[in-house]
Amino acid sequence: MLHGLMMTRPLLISGILRFAERAHGNREIVSRRAEDLAIHRYTYRELGVRARKLAKALLALGIKPGDRVATIAWNGYRHLELYYAVSGIGAVLHTINPRLHPTQIAWIMNHAEDKALFVDTTFAKLLAGVAPHVASLAHKVVLCGREHMPAETPDATCYEELVAAQADDAFEWPEFDENTASCLCYTSGTTGNPRGVLYSHRSTVLHAYASSLPDVMGIRAVDAILPVVPMFHVNAWGLPYSALINGAKIVFPGPALDGKSVYELMESERVTFSAGVPTVWLGLLAHVEQNKLRFTTLKRCVIGGSAAPVALQQRFEREYGVEILHAWGMTEMSPLGTLNQPTSEHERESEEAKYTRKAKQGRGVYGVELRIVDEAGKELPWDGTSFGALHVRGPWIAGSYFRSESGAFTADGWFDTGDVATIDAQGFMKITDRTKDVIKSGGEWIGSLDLEDVIMKHPSVAMAAAIAVPHEKWGERPLLVVVKKPGQELSRDEAIGYFEGKVAKWWIPSDVVFVDALPLGATGKVLKTELRQKFASHAWPEGV
Ligand code: ADP
Repeated sequence: MLHGLMMTRPLLISGILRFAERAHGNREIVSRRAEDLAIHRYTYRELGVRARKLAKALLALGIKPGDRVATIAWNGYRHLELYYAVSGIGAVLHTINPRLHPTQIAWIMNHAEDKALFVDTTFAKLLAGVAPHVASLAHKVVLCGREHMPAETPDATCYEELVAAQADDAFEWPEFDENTASCLCYTSGTTGNPRGVLYSHRSTVLHAYASSLPDVMGIRAVDAILPVVPMFHVNAWGLPYSALINGAKIVFPGPALDGKSVYELMESERVTFSAGVPTVWLGLLAHVEQNKLRFTTLKRCVIGGSAAPVALQQRFEREYGVEILHAWGMTEMSPLGTLNQPTSEHERESEEAKYTRKAKQGRGVYGVELRIVDEAGKELPWDGTSFGALHVRGPWIAGSYFRSESGAFTADGWFDTGDVATIDAQGFMKITDRTKDVIKSGGEWIGSLDLEDVIMKHPSVAMAAAIAVPHEKWGERPLLVVVKKPGQELSRDEAIGYFEGKVAKWWIPSDVVFVDALPLGATGKVLKTELRQKFASHAWPEGV
């Protein structure tokens, strides 16, 4: 082998900030603050100054390379300062999902051995409750100025004072191995105990590059990005990094995530690009439709985290001219795995074919290899019909969990995602289910996501989940759990009739129940485990 003679500059997160300050110093970062809901604005240049002061302050507190520094915070500029300062000094940013139960948060913090915790004012009470149960915790900081310091945390440090105590920002970001840990994020535990995914500087930078590609998120310097997806879950899908490497304006919504607030911020800040889970967009669209509004600047939205219903995509695209990019990924994948963008082969596709394609989660991003395997581990063909366990590998995919064993990593170096999928000849992957959510009827699999996609097109349906319920003859049969739109009527028979001709006969749900709301987990996904428990002894109607 002949060795290449190129520089081996490490891929470090601090390098992203250094570049952004230089190349796009005037670009704006606009945030709705948690403590007073006021709009705060500054530039990349000011982010750089404050991040360096914060880095000095962290070192002065005694934070050392490798130490875990936790945050429980909304999307906002101070959280972004922590993203860059903590990783920048070689410590590890541990973002925590505030929607988890406090006992689970304490469990995660003990597992991670967090040394410091930074919270928004919203979470002062949470901090006061959790902190006494975390022995490793030496520093508690609230992200606000002195005037907003909450009464619940008399012994906590004020963030603005911590930063202001540094007279200047004279600081050089240290250089170290790019494989150094940068961030820690625990899976939300919808599928068992939370597990820590420990990202590295290298994986984060590569993910930021790849996710920006034109056929991935296509982020540009002319964009204004509003990440609805939280910075406390999988680093807001990498947007805090990819925005900076492309010089895009960032608009942080803080705690105000209702349809009205998000819409108003999108309009006032001329947002062009946004990203989030389907439930967020349902709320936003409801607001826009009810008030007969238009999006004047919004052009593209990435929807992922759960399947993006075709009906939702069509409403956005046909009625509002906003392009939907359906994406799939997971905490273990930083998170991006696939994204649905057309190729030249789709130039003349019919409307019907277009949305059949867009129901799929898309093509693997360069850097992520995909394979599907059967129960014996044999690789299955990419024919669009064979389905099996979806495996992935690549430089931003977890190779193991933090301080935890798992059977999800195969002997030949792949990660078993726990999803079941098909991949077609053009490389478009479609998730049919999570392994544990599949409905097994008469030994054959029924894809619950397909059933949900069909019924979501019914005008009376707000949300729906198809779950497996035990059945004497078939082992399991699909039960459809439906939330109707306010003021709309829908009968069981009408709902079942709606499936006629749209799916195989034996896939049609055997019964329908109506509920006021579906249980949602900490990341906005329907908790199917809970639904399965609730309806475990559902009495099937006569003749089913
Ligand atoms: P958890 O919910 O366990 O914390 P993540 O938030 O990382 O994990 O979610 C990853 C899972 O979410 C995927 O394995 C997949 O089941 C589901 N998912 C993500 N995006 C999509 C999508 N576009 N369509 C269907 N399922 C999706």
